Amino acid sequence: MKLSKMHIKTLREVPAEAEIPSHILLLRTGMIRKLVSGVYGFMPLGWRAVRKIEDIIRQEMDNIGGQEIHMSAIQPSELWEESGRWFAYGPELWRVKDRNGRDFCLGPTHEEIFTDIIRNDVSSHRQLPLYLYQIQTKYRDEARPRFGLMRSREFIMKDAYSFDRDFDGLDKSYDEMYEAYEKIFTRCGLTFRPVEADTGAIGGSNSHEFTALSEVGESEIAYCEKCSMAATTERAEFVDAPAETDEMMALEEVDTPGTKTIEEVANFLGIDQSRTIKALLFITYDDEGKEKEYVAAFIRGDRELNMIKLINALGIHEHSIEFADEAKMAEATGCVGGFTGPIGLHDCKIVVDSELTGLKNLCAGANKEDYHVKNVNYDRDYKGDIVADLKLLKEGDPCPICGEPVKHARGIEVGQVFKLGTKYSEAMKATYKDENQKDQLIVMGCYGIGVTRTLAAIVEQNHDENGIIWPMSVAPYHVIITLVKPGDEQQQALADKIYNELAKAGVEVLLDDRDERPGVKFKDADLLGIPVRITVGKRASEGIVEYKLRREIEKEEKTAEDAVKDAIALVNVEK
Ligand code: ATP
Ligand code: MG
Repeated sequence: MKLSKMHIKTLREVPAEAEIPSHILLLRTGMIRKLVSGVYGFMPLGWRAVRKIEDIIRQEMDNIGGQEIHMSAIQPSELWEESGRWFAYGPELWRVKDRNGRDFCLGPTHEEIFTDIIRNDVSSHRQLPLYLYQIQTKYRDEARPRFGLMRSREFIMKDAYSFDRDFDGLDKSYDEMYEAYEKIFTRCGLTFRPVEADTGAIGGSNSHEFTALSEVGESEIAYCEKCSMAATTERAEFVDAPAETDEMMALEEVDTPGTKTIEEVANFLGIDQSRTIKALLFITYDDEGKEKEYVAAFIRGDRELNMIKLINALGIHEHSIEFADEAKMAEATGCVGGFTGPIGLHDCKIVVDSELTGLKNLCAGANKEDYHVKNVNYDRDYKGDIVADLKLLKEGDPCPICGEPVKHARGIEVGQVFKLGTKYSEAMKATYKDENQKDQLIVMGCYGIGVTRTLAAIVEQNHDENGIIWPMSVAPYHVIITLVKPGDEQQQALADKIYNELAKAGVEVLLDDRDERPGVKFKDADLLGIPVRITVGKRASEGIVEYKLRREIEKEEKTAEDAVKDAIALVNVEK
């Protein structure tokens, strides 16, 4: 392809909203084009990179016996009512009506659709196991679309679903998928880490997220350098220290004027924050969106609440809970903003972090303006309606497996694998007949990869101040030939020769034949990130060219033959 003919528009100025390198670079190179917030189109070079990622995914899915299909993005609400997710999915679900007022959504994921296909098509145990997948456009009306392709409202996802006769079969499918994911992300040139992930209402340690490590990532992971523990912080368990054995002392009300925060009260009383109880107040909503109940959650003063753990403990949906209006909650429950404690609250659900049950003589709010109570003890002075692990495992906290201090890292969730079990087959009655002609539920797994998010993650991990540095496997083109002086006959002839030889060997080549200064061409080649640059310039008459890899600083002069040979060899090894 000649660059002079390619439809490409690089940008000098990038919109201020682009904050992270991948977003900035994909816009600057003109590879993506924004339509509205969270909705992007792909221009020729960007689309070639997307297709390379898709091809890697296809190959690895096909290798484990996956069969590609393609389902509609438009999904009727009835299927979502059947699974119970029409409400549960919340405002992220992009709902639309047709001209007759019938409800549909633009699919954010396809469990319902695939389960529907399978319940119609599969009747016998002989048809299982089965892996189906698609690479398809998904829609999620994200509250905060940002970072370009990272969190968009329209994006490309590979979603695969496994259908097995039993849970042993599911375990095997899951392991195969997990291994395929490791191959896919390795081939995409990513540094990544599979970590245990939250499974919400389904429970169990039945999900992993594949996280591309990056400081700008929105996922936080906790891991241990001594053992194999690695989990999202949402999921990471906190193992409490053994219960304290101190004698319980008598409750004592203390005047603590104006000390509304944990820090203020601890300083005022001269105690450590870890000797206090922190209260967090919420209101929950039912499936019709009506207020359901007040919730008071209590954790040790120096801990942070893990919202996902609280939601799981309450068994509710993520969008069914908000911070409470303190004044309204005070009227109903007796709490007092800034001075709320667990003793004497009424008409609300009390959720207590498990750690508090083993600590003795803590300081808590007295539910009375300007007062706290000292020597508060679980069981003797208050009880929880629910006791559960509610806290965030922070850097330096003990590893739940071996006790070593854990580390934290940030990353981009590029994929997730999930054992669904019979959640959908039960709700939607997807069964098969076993050897004895008895109906059995099909056991399912689902497996997603964010294709366009993966593209952004690759750029995030592979760039420098001059531009993108594509790994060969996903580069839009393998080699760029920079023709220094397009009018020069000898240079033109040599560039054409190199171009034709590379193309014949299956190398994807760009020829920069534009009428631009060499400096501009070199800058653009660096910006676009093509892995190999061959410069045809002054020494063309001697058959000598300059050979440079984008990822290295040094350049080398070589004969044109050697440059072609080396480029072909490199591309064949790395593509
Ligand atoms: P997140 O927690 O980031 O919102 P998720 O866990 O809801 O993602 P899944 O339902 O597991 O996402 O979707 C499968 C994959 O699709 C994710 O691993 C991610 O790579 C990608 N993905 C999800 N939401 C988006 C989005 N808004 N924009 C781009 N890619 C996304
Ligand atoms: Mg996920």
